[in-house]
Amino acid sequence: MYPDYHMHTRFSDGHHTHEEMIYSAEVSGFTEIGFSDHISLKPVGWSMDLTRIPELIDTMKHIQHRSSPLTVRFGAEVDYIPSLAGDTRKILQALPLDYVIGSVHFIDDWNFDTDINGYETIDINNFYRTYFRLISEAAQSQIFDIIGHADLAKKFAVYPTFNLNKLYEETARVFRESGVVVELNTSGKNKPCAEFYPSVDFLEVLHHYHVPITLGSDAHVEQNIGQHFEEAVNLLKSIGYKEIVTFKQRKRSSAPL
Ligand SMILES: [Zn+2]
Ligand SMILES: [Zn+2]
Repeated sequence: MYPDYHMHTRFSDGHHTHEEMIYSAEVSGFTEIGFSDHISLKPVGWSMDLTRIPELIDTMKHIQHRSSPLTVRFGAEVDYIPSLAGDTRKILQALPLDYVIGSVHFIDDWNFDTDINGYETIDINNFYRTYFRLISEAAQSQIFDIIGHADLAKKFAVYPTFNLNKLYEETARVFRESGVVVELNTSGKNKPCAEFYPSVDFLEVLHHYHVPITLGSDAHVEQNIGQHFEEAVNLLKSIGYKEIVTFKQRKRSSAPL
């Protein structure tokens, strides 16, 4: 089993505790997982209450200091919000994290991955261009180690009229220059878009630009840990990936595929 680096607990919008998630991962045969509860500086219901950060640190310290065959990494899924980038960086510097996933869930104040009504009034082509610009900026900000679900714009199967290859190329080049890793997030399979984030076409471009990959299920319940991983690993191998990335204290290593 390859490490699953994207999962949520009850500290944010997950339904299970750290202990329940760990037990499930152990039973499923994982040797390494990472928790990535939401940290958003915009006040939203699905993010953790920032006053609970000390409690989260204590919980993770306790888990990481006990002896167990399961390695547990302390990650976070953090919103990239351009106007709050400075404060975001400051909060993260004070946390003993193993890795930080940077995600874009907002275009201005629109939370486009939860508020489906917003799609009725926008220009979809512009939406895609803005989304890809924001994830490029997130990479360039150097705040994050990993870019989360890198083509989340397609979640509700609303697509632009232009071919996305040029945006994939431009974005992959920025990712390469910025030194970020991209996650293959398997949760898109269960969404209206019914495919991984990133798409196969985007993954091929990322591979061409030597952008490394982590794996994440985005599990919000223990049953979804490692969901679709076999298919994801086979896909990565068929594209030409030879390894996936792991993190410890924000330093990168790799494991062969
Ligand atoms: Zn997310
Ligand atoms: Zn997530």
